[in-house]
Amino acid sequence: MSSATEGKTNFIYTLINKDLEEGKNNGEVHTRFPPEPNGYLHIGHAKALLLNYKIALDFNGKFNLRFDDTNPIKEEQMFVDSIIADIRWLGIDWEERLFFSSSSFEAKFAFAERLIKAGRAFVCDLTPEEIREYRGTLTESGKESPYRNRTVAENITLFARMRSGEFQNGARVLRAKIDMSSGNLNMRDPVLYRILHAHHHRTGDTWCIYPMYDFDHPFTDVLEGITHSLCSIEYSDHRPLYDWVVENALELMPEICKYRSQQNEFARLNMTYTVLSKRKLRRLVEEGFVHGWDDPRMPTIAGLRRRGVTPAAIADFQERVGVARADSTVDLALFEHCLREDLGKTALRMMAVLEPLKVVITNWPLGKIELLELENMPDEKTAGTRLVPFGREIYVEAEDFMEEPPKKFHRLTPGQEVRLKGAYVIRCEEIIKDTAGKITELRCTYDPLTKSGEDESGKKVKGVIHWVEIQHSVKATVRLYDSLFSKENPEDEETDDFTANINPNSLITLTNVFVEPAIAQAPAGSRFQFIRKGYFYLEVNDASKGELVFNRTVVLKDTWAKINK
Ligand code: ATP
Ligand code: MG
Repeated sequence: MSSATEGKTNFIYTLINKDLEEGKNNGEVHTRFPPEPNGYLHIGHAKALLLNYKIALDFNGKFNLRFDDTNPIKEEQMFVDSIIADIRWLGIDWEERLFFSSSSFEAKFAFAERLIKAGRAFVCDLTPEEIREYRGTLTESGKESPYRNRTVAENITLFARMRSGEFQNGARVLRAKIDMSSGNLNMRDPVLYRILHAHHHRTGDTWCIYPMYDFDHPFTDVLEGITHSLCSIEYSDHRPLYDWVVENALELMPEICKYRSQQNEFARLNMTYTVLSKRKLRRLVEEGFVHGWDDPRMPTIAGLRRRGVTPAAIADFQERVGVARADSTVDLALFEHCLREDLGKTALRMMAVLEPLKVVITNWPLGKIELLELENMPDEKTAGTRLVPFGREIYVEAEDFMEEPPKKFHRLTPGQEVRLKGAYVIRCEEIIKDTAGKITELRCTYDPLTKSGEDESGKKVKGVIHWVEIQHSVKATVRLYDSLFSKENPEDEETDDFTANINPNSLITLTNVFVEPAIAQAPAGSRFQFIRKGYFYLEVNDASKGELVFNRTVVLKDTWAKINK
């Protein structure tokens, strides 16, 4: 094993090392990521992307970004742009190798003509339904098309007429002539080209015939000099056809086709409480279940970014999941664990009160503000300290007070002392209620001998709660996100429609949140741990409009760490 890949044990690395030992492809390794621009990238794509990219890095090879844009009906420039932005954000560099399948439509057409001339492709007039009927089944061999024995000259003419736009959609197709009795249905004279009168986002109206994936993909791999074409398991059955196209490309188009690309399959990423099919994600967007492809509840890269997820956490997650041949479903808790691990290293610990309850400290002098020095990260001294204003009126979390508490409630209750994080010990003396009986304010007293770090009181206080001083606090909006689905497997067989499993509480917006001043001074894009409340991402900070918006990335409770101790 080469030193660069030592310790990397997934089966694809083993396979590439073997190819290198056998001297295949002149010792070159060249991979690609081939997204179809018909949706946003999601965390599953990130697996394929990172795998391909890391292989190129580890084997000192090359990595291409290629848009598989052969279906103009579903594809859009908007998706090309979002995919490029997302891949950049993930830290992946394709250098100058950005390609589009559509850029080589002319070469593909020429290849198709050579297949015809070699007697290996023909124009077929069967309707799509007839083609399906003639195809046979897994147990029954197929039937040859009556158009299979057209002469080369006739095929060449018809194919040219298909290109020139003489026929309607579906009237004719170009098919490979392989074997209608093959045990592999993909080899039963598969369709190579279809007629589609549609405007393409890059080639405009130049073409009205478009190559099929099974023809286009291997040929593009060969054109680009891809050595290892990695794709997900569902393409295993297409491998013989992949090889057929590659062999023919090398034989019939030797002037532009060099390397014998080989396809290898790996398991797709599936995750609990998540759907990863683009078709389903599109439904969520189009039917308004979420607010767009980049809604922070979506498993899209754009959504995760808005949620506050870091590229490092995504990479760590993929690393832990690994690469295998067998399909499996990964626990969402593992992903969240990776988030906490990464955010925990850098997010400053600060205070925000999400659901405020006013506290007046009656024995604190009117108008006096004391600046308390708090550590930004208690476990990381280099993160420094900041000054936090403390005064007579503060907010605490409403849930940190109970008038009639159960046993072991160590927070604020009538007569019980609690420590304010980094400040003093207070005791609740009086509860103020409105006419409806709702608690509107607490009157407390503080003990001047209990200042944090200088406590001379000898008091043993069990609870510590967070707070913000009212006058200096800044109002904010906080979006609390939870998983988009309430069922572990939203697509299980019992459910007709996966949208029935949407979690009604996947988004809760709080508009009366108060944060300490240091938080409000941070630029958009900053990440914090709000003490006791989770990790938050500052999405918008526009003081001129008075907009300060945080998205909760993940809560603090780590179920994964507990289960997997
Ligand atoms: P769909 O979700 O509609 O089936 P797709 O996800 O395959 O489409 P592509 O744009 O063709 O869409 O995907 C690009 C690459 O990403 C492919 O090589 C595909 O194998 C890989 N990929 C897609 N989904 C996953 C996943 N969940 N896990 C790993 N790789 C994936
Ligand atoms: Mg695909």
